[in-house]
Amino acid sequence: MKDLIIFTDLDGSLLDAETYRASPADSLFETLNTHGIPVVFNSSKTFPEILKVRRSLGNHQPFVVENGSAVYVPIDHEIAGTNGLEPAHGYLRYVLGVSHQRITDFLGWVGEGFKYSALTQMPGQECASVTGLSGSDVLMAQAREFSEPLLWRDSEASLKKLSDMALSEGLRLVMGGRFVHLMGDTDKKLAQRWLVNRMRLIYEKDYKVMALGDSENDAQMLADADHPVLIRSEKHGFPHIETESPVYRTKRTGPGGWHEAVRTIVLRELI
Ligand SMILES: [Mg+2]
Repeated sequence: MKDLIIFTDLDGSLLDAETYRASPADSLFETLNTHGIPVVFNSSKTFPEILKVRRSLGNHQPFVVENGSAVYVPIDHEIAGTNGLEPAHGYLRYVLGVSHQRITDFLGWVGEGFKYSALTQMPGQECASVTGLSGSDVLMAQAREFSEPLLWRDSEASLKKLSDMALSEGLRLVMGGRFVHLMGDTDKKLAQRWLVNRMRLIYEKDYKVMALGDSENDAQMLADADHPVLIRSEKHGFPHIETESPVYRTKRTGPGGWHEAVRTIVLRELI
């Protein structure tokens, strides 16, 4: 199992859905690092939110924000010389999504006919109670660059109508846990593919991909991987994926399942 890249969802997969802790999954990071297996975070979270997780876990790899909207690359990383990257927040980034302004413009244009609350427009207090976040974490969750989470207060039929209007404008509505996310026409899989292709070119290795996730918004990323891992959730069933690759469904939930799968599939060959 060499020349492997691990892509992972965060909430409910690497991180516990309630406590946001990575234990026991994080106990494997050093071994993975020793064997040169990068762990890439691929999440619906924002840049500052993922930066915080990376720092707390000592991760130095590129990472994907806002459901495949952009890949951030550290400036000292080997793929930083790739064409098409733009500087942002002290990193380089490859953008697959659209700007938050474009989404705001779209909502300003069509949004009058629908009932919803946009996350970035909520007062801090309301945002805190809706997300369960507190303090500076609220501001980090609201720091959207490429997507707008909407707390939907209208009918399913209206949601379908907004979804159709979004599609005709080159945007997408993605169903999340608490929110529906209005974003550009991209997903976690497209960002994963872009990064894997860049790494294959630079390192001249035929990298295989392991992807781990627990929800529907991970389905395309998982289906595109050589080793898809479905992380068990206490809140919902496994996402549906269509793939020829062997699928591993964890027995344990969250980071316990992450630890179980990586130990079983990757490390039994290495240790
Ligand atoms: Mg998740």
